[in-house]
Amino acid sequence: MNSVEYMETAEQNLLHTYNRFGVVLESGKGVRLYDTDGKQYLDFAAGIAVCALGYGNAEYNAALKEQVDKLLHTSNLYYNPPIIQAAALVKKASGMDRVFFTNSGAEAVEGAIKSAKKYAYTRDGHTDHEIIAMENSFHGRTLGALSVTGNPHYQEAFEPLLGGVRFARFNDLDSVKALINDKTCAIILETVQGEGGVYPASKDFLEGIAAICQEKDILLILDEIQCGMGRTGAMFAWQHYNVRPDIMVAAKALGCGVPVGAFLTTERVAQKSLVPGDHGTTYGGNPFVGAAVSKVFEIMERDRILEHVTAISEYLWNRLEALKDKHECIHDHRGIGLMQGLQLAVPVGVVSKRALQQGLILITAGSNVLRFVPPLIIEEEHIDEMYRILDDVLSGMVK
Ligand SMILES: *Cc1c(COP(=O)(O)O)cnc(C)c1O
Repeated sequence: MNSVEYMETAEQNLLHTYNRFGVVLESGKGVRLYDTDGKQYLDFAAGIAVCALGYGNAEYNAALKEQVDKLLHTSNLYYNPPIIQAAALVKKASGMDRVFFTNSGAEAVEGAIKSAKKYAYTRDGHTDHEIIAMENSFHGRTLGALSVTGNPHYQEAFEPLLGGVRFARFNDLDSVKALINDKTCAIILETVQGEGGVYPASKDFLEGIAAICQEKDILLILDEIQCGMGRTGAMFAWQHYNVRPDIMVAAKALGCGVPVGAFLTTERVAQKSLVPGDHGTTYGGNPFVGAAVSKVFEIMERDRILEHVTAISEYLWNRLEALKDKHECIHDHRGIGLMQGLQLAVPVGVVSKRALQQGLILITAGSNVLRFVPPLIIEEEHIDEMYRILDDVLSGMVK
């Protein structure tokens, strides 16, 4: 099949929940992707912040192949070595105490919400608790995760959602304080808002929330699904702040392409929350994803990926600042590490489409932000190449 035939067949068969770019991707190597027509692309999206190690990492691929030949799945009724190793590694990297592996980010958010509700129920003996979430947030598409996603547009058709969820303004501590009452059991937020347009939590905001949570025995749930796993130059973005979450969720780059997520809790939360019978998953934490997660942590540590991200993200920052100085249509530049955004006064959808035509994969966030979440192995030469293409595309946009 050629690419047009692939796309026609896709649109006849797949449920149309995405307006996809007109490209059929077939293979990848390093930070490059190739479509079925053989055209090459420079990737600044990493499959939405998933493919941290880029594509075709020989060591990662070999570990997966080896596990395929050994054992793929056992169910959680038995122990398996790869996930036991993965659990120890994610615990060490996060400083959390207990982990539950899921198959996706949204499922990890579900588990985090259930853990918080169970904790409050065990403590108080009743269930009418409330959760504070943030406007402009994104936590996933399942009904529970959607209930704490502060985007009315995503929620509208699916009401009624979970009750007892209230929305505060991100980076506005007073708006959080105003919603706290005796029923509040948890506050959930992304350490760096991703889909909403790349907004890092301010230090005062996050540390202020953490202090309130500690004082009132409210659980702080940090969603690190997009900003975690080294993307900001720390293994988890909250490690840049003077806080420790009670519950955190990870996914996306946790398996670098294998579907896996996780929610992690402190021992204190674990002791009062989920027990046998409260939660489960058939696939979650199977040997295959365990092999992937273990290898990801091994490579990230050995290859000093965090140090690389810290250094290279400064270079990206400076190049995007240069673009901002040159193009009036760029209104803001923000972010942290390799999670940066440019807010534009021209349609970002058109910019990303034109960039794609020129061989640059770039995604958007919110309604007016270009989002830069490349593989963490990106180098200066790739950033220069991205700069040239984006400079050209922006120069061609009518103001
Ligand atoms: C992607 C994402 C999710 C949802 O993860 P899925 O694997 O798509 O379910 C939740 N929270 C954040 C911050 C995300 O970026």
